[in-house]
Amino acid sequence: MRYQFKFRPYQRRFLRSLTTNHGKWDIREGIILRLTDETLRVGWGEIAPISWFGSETLEQALNFCHQLPGEITDEIIFSIPDELPACQFGFESAWEWGVRSGVDDLITPHSSLLTSNSLFYSALLPAGETALNQWETLWQQGYRTFKWKIGVNAIADELEIFDSLIQTLPAFTKLRLDANGGLTYEEANLWLRTCDNLKANPELPLEIEFIEQPLPVEQFQGMLELSTSYETAIALDESVATLGQLAACHQQGWRGIFVIKPGIVGSPSRLRKFCHQHQIDTVFSSVFETAIARLAALQLAAELSQNNRAIGFGIDHFFEQEETWFQTLWNDL
Ligand code: MG
Repeated sequence: MRYQFKFRPYQRRFLRSLTTNHGKWDIREGIILRLTDETLRVGWGEIAPISWFGSETLEQALNFCHQLPGEITDEIIFSIPDELPACQFGFESAWEWGVRSGVDDLITPHSSLLTSNSLFYSALLPAGETALNQWETLWQQGYRTFKWKIGVNAIADELEIFDSLIQTLPAFTKLRLDANGGLTYEEANLWLRTCDNLKANPELPLEIEFIEQPLPVEQFQGMLELSTSYETAIALDESVATLGQLAACHQQGWRGIFVIKPGIVGSPSRLRKFCHQHQIDTVFSSVFETAIARLAALQLAAELSQNNRAIGFGIDHFFEQEETWFQTLWNDL
């Protein structure tokens, strides 16, 4: 099969900038691509790299798109090198989109599939104290699982805010702590001990679900050790950004949680194969993609999620309205 290939770079400004241990992030940049097959079936795809997280850069992705001919084949789509995981995802999911949709179905990304059920989503709280005034709005929108970034400010301050957060969050809330690799070994121990103590308290009406990526990627052994020393679960995120890393961590004995960001992990078909083979405990998570990559990512999450874990796509409150944005991007094509 041959496909007509078109692409368009995009920029979206966050309504409020995103602060993690990796720094501040103000503008999400990526590429929307469109494949049209010989029967005029259309598939949309999105390349949404995060190079500081382990994917290719936007520039590398753009270069890859620019050097492709206007007409491409299945062979091209399925032989994108592993160094371009966000491209693998974008092209393969556009290909799948075309296959999934009916022949006369010119699907645009306004489908009802995109309306989220917040109950199954984890909502991202802003770092620092701001979290204390933010959770309530999100709770009212139906969210019951929250993620809070740690490793951003001094640990003493964060432990204090954490304490207030624990006191104020309603019963049956689940809380995830994401350090983005920003803790020292001692700090990680302190957080895990704090969480274990809370866990041991039968009065505590909420659940600390896990601590995400406490240590930098290079300190895998440290995290492996921590994961067997505490009750509180640990999830790897930065350590398993791409399929190759994921397989390596699994091979080295990681049996904790794996955060999978479909947008940058690489080929969806190979991800499916790996998950089916190894039955790993996964949490699917967003890379602040638009509705296009999100549709493909949610599809994968629905297929491959286990253990009923909320998926990390509760990020709508970080962007302006989706449809307006998309129409502006493609209208002049
Ligand atoms: Mg994370």
